[in-house]
Amino acid sequence: MFTDTATQAVSTLIDNFGREISYLRLSITDRCNLRCRYCMPEEGVTFLDHSKILSYEEMETLVRVALRLGIKKVRITGGEPFARKGCMDFLERLKLQLGVPALHVTTNGVVLQQYLADLKRIGISGINLSLDTINRGRFENITRRDQLDSVLSSFYEALRLSIPLKVNSVIQADTTDDEIVELAKLITMHPVSLRFIELMPFSGKKSGADNTPAISVEERLRSLFPGMTEISSDVIETARIFHIPGAAGTVGIIEGHSRKFCSTCNKIRITSQGILKTCLYDRGVCDLRSLIREGADDEQVANVIVNRVSKRYEHGKLAEEKTLQTPVQETMSRIGG
Ligand code: SAM
Ligand code: SF4
Repeated sequence: MFTDTATQAVSTLIDNFGREISYLRLSITDRCNLRCRYCMPEEGVTFLDHSKILSYEEMETLVRVALRLGIKKVRITGGEPFARKGCMDFLERLKLQLGVPALHVTTNGVVLQQYLADLKRIGISGINLSLDTINRGRFENITRRDQLDSVLSSFYEALRLSIPLKVNSVIQADTTDDEIVELAKLITMHPVSLRFIELMPFSGKKSGADNTPAISVEERLRSLFPGMTEISSDVIETARIFHIPGAAGTVGIIEGHSRKFCSTCNKIRITSQGILKTCLYDRGVCDLRSLIREGADDEQVANVIVNRVSKRYEHGKLAEEKTLQTPVQETMSRIGG
């Protein structure tokens, strides 16, 4: 348990550059029911042994500590979170027992539909649905699985239930203009935020990302939607938001590879193995799983997190330079995108 002094001392988590940390992204599995080509290699994927993955109980300990440290928003991600048995019950405990103020989940939507009513009931704050294309052949080509119909069913059911929804689409070199325009039709009709994500070098390949588009996502969108105007910067979501005339929803750009939002970054990550990352581009700064398994109590875990946050890199380029071996071989499915 926390002592009063410790609770007071760390009720707001602030890093060494004065950035307040209020957002935790927690990956609950490295496994997935898709094999997106920019996230996982086609073959030879080695999944972590179950004993190396945080148990739900361990993750609840970490979320409890995080809340005491001032974290207000928790995003559950993976791998595919709903591919892990018990994910829905875990989300329910996080919301209804631990009282996470803003609970979000990032999912590929393949098996999401069956959980949507429960997600609505527990008061999920939002779902980020990953969908790169609504062309069936391309979907299979990118994800290596024929599951577009299930994803679209989840999309429409989430809309019907009025669950706040964002659609995330990774832009690759071979993403066609038609695909982007077809995706954008989703926001013409529906109040959805469609965010285009820059490809990042986390495919697990030795050569890093090899499908990076030659022009920026912004240039691409501006040429396709000339009337597009920037309306805001969503610092929390690290997205720039744009309006397209006549659209019910918005378009966003997440410039994760350009690293334009580092100065306001409010996130920490915990991987499914319990590795704390204070930057997407670092190699992990602490093994929280071992700490818990060695018997550390909440206060000791909190102190370690506070300590690591006080040694954060100023920006992602520096974190990459200092800690990553190049080329990058980490996969996003392991990190928890
Ligand atoms: N399986 C879930 C999903 O796909 O939404 C959650 C985990 S996935 C790793 C989270 C997000 O990371 C997805 O939106 C995916 O498109 C994105 N992602 C994965 N690899 C990426 C990469 N190399 N560059 C940019 N985004 C990537
Ligand atoms: Fe799975 Fe998500 Fe990675 Fe695709 S992006 S392979 S759905 S974890």
